[in-house]
Amino acid sequence: MAASYLIVGAGVFGVSTAYTLIRKYPNASVTIIDRDAFDAESRVAASWDWNKVVRADYDDIVYCRLALEAQDIFKSDPLYQPYFHESGIYWICRSDYAGQVLDNYKKLGRTADLQALDVNEARKLYGGIFADADYSGVKDVLVNRSSGWANAGDALVAVTRKCVELGVKYVVADIESLQFDTIGACTGVKTTKGDAHRAEKVILSTGAFTPRLLEQAAKASGKPDISAGDRIVAGGITTGMTTLDEKSYEKFAKMPVGVQGYTASTGPFIGSLPPTRDRELKWWGQKIFKNTQSILGKQISAPPSKPDYDQWKVPNKLKQDIAYANNVFYGKNGASWKMEKHRICWDAFTTSSDFIISPHTAAKGLYIATCGSFHGYKFFPVLGKYVVQMLEGELEPDLKEKWAWDRERPDPKDNPDWPRWEMEDLEDEKARL
Ligand SMILES: Cc1cc2nc3c(=O)[nH]c(=O)nc-3n(C[C@H](O)[C@H](O)[C@H](O)COP(=O)(O)OP(=O)(O)OC[C@H]3O[C@@H](n4cnc5c(N)ncnc54)[C@H](O)[C@@H]3O)c2cc1C
Repeated sequence: MAASYLIVGAGVFGVSTAYTLIRKYPNASVTIIDRDAFDAESRVAASWDWNKVVRADYDDIVYCRLALEAQDIFKSDPLYQPYFHESGIYWICRSDYAGQVLDNYKKLGRTADLQALDVNEARKLYGGIFADADYSGVKDVLVNRSSGWANAGDALVAVTRKCVELGVKYVVADIESLQFDTIGACTGVKTTKGDAHRAEKVILSTGAFTPRLLEQAAKASGKPDISAGDRIVAGGITTGMTTLDEKSYEKFAKMPVGVQGYTASTGPFIGSLPPTRDRELKWWGQKIFKNTQSILGKQISAPPSKPDYDQWKVPNKLKQDIAYANNVFYGKNGASWKMEKHRICWDAFTTSSDFIISPHTAAKGLYIATCGSFHGYKFFPVLGKYVVQMLEGELEPDLKEKWAWDRERPDPKDNPDWPRWEMEDLEDEKARL
């Protein structure tokens, strides 16, 4: 009998897993449960976005290899290809990042139109759109013309729709807890309305909500080891957009993805994505923050409790974070742009920025596949392959160790993208009565 699979979360981790499973086992029962419909107008998933960077420019050779594997699919598979734009990337480096990326491509035997340029040479590229960027402390600029970006939400909807066509069941429900049998194996999930869904294998791909869900399940089942502990931290980042006028659009339409790279002591990297077909140019900000709150007696970071994570309610300090991002990329050239469509996007972080793709060691039948750590989207086409390898005990040893539930985790002090702020310190001052 084919196995039954229940995947909670329809972001890139969950959908890629469902797509791999249903193609490998067309007769299996594969169900995705998400609190939002996959084609809803607004969703809380980090994977649901106008656009995301799709690049293999990694100093970590493992992610460089996997990103190249994913990018090959983005560029060739008719399911993904319509959503990929080979715009190139322009990465302003303040460390030896460019050298490490070049080295990784070489070690992997991959050729690409990829080079490290000095600032004066780089400034002249792409019609000089980055001529007025902040180059303080910069070593060189990595230009990789084979990188790009994807229409993230559109690609997610297309692959989910394909899953449903192939027989995956998509259920809209909010999951409150997990269910266990008498010997402690996970047998399914319980919705906030009290409905139960059962399967032989339960896979949590719940992004930033994962620590909260596991805490609720730990409490309800009396199994404290189900908690995420300090393995996963929910972190938020702001995005903002401007709509370019016709004339500016002409200039920016062919721009590459822009990245301002920093170091752990100076801050997270900031990005600017090329305009969408609606002429909207996007940034993400530099403030990455937790939202620590008391959940069932423990201090845990989780997205705001509202069904939409309050993602459209963006405090002024975070709007200023986007204005800052605009300034370090475009300086005076972007000074008059009106910033709009601010959003807070929540993701699950680990201290090493590695994913967790692993059996949960405290309950048979329960698996974790999430923790994009602010870089997971680009792996969409290959995540499912590795999740299924994990489910079947076939993950290669180095990946098994890297993505394990239980592993030694580094101190986050050397991770520039670790959530270092608290949301309450970034909120607008409450009016004093
Ligand atoms: C601002 C920002 C910019 C980023 N830019 C990039 C980029 O350019 N390139 C890149 O590669 N990566 C990028 N990332 C990272 C990437 O978006 C994430 O790592 C990735 O999308 C995470 O996927 P996921 O499937 O784990 O989670 P998500 O996409 O967040 O999906 C989780 C799903 O689980 C559902 N869910 C959660 N809890 C429950 C519950 N209890 N009941 C029912 N449903 C539930 C949610 O509704 C959601 O749909 C960015 C992230 C952010 C925040």
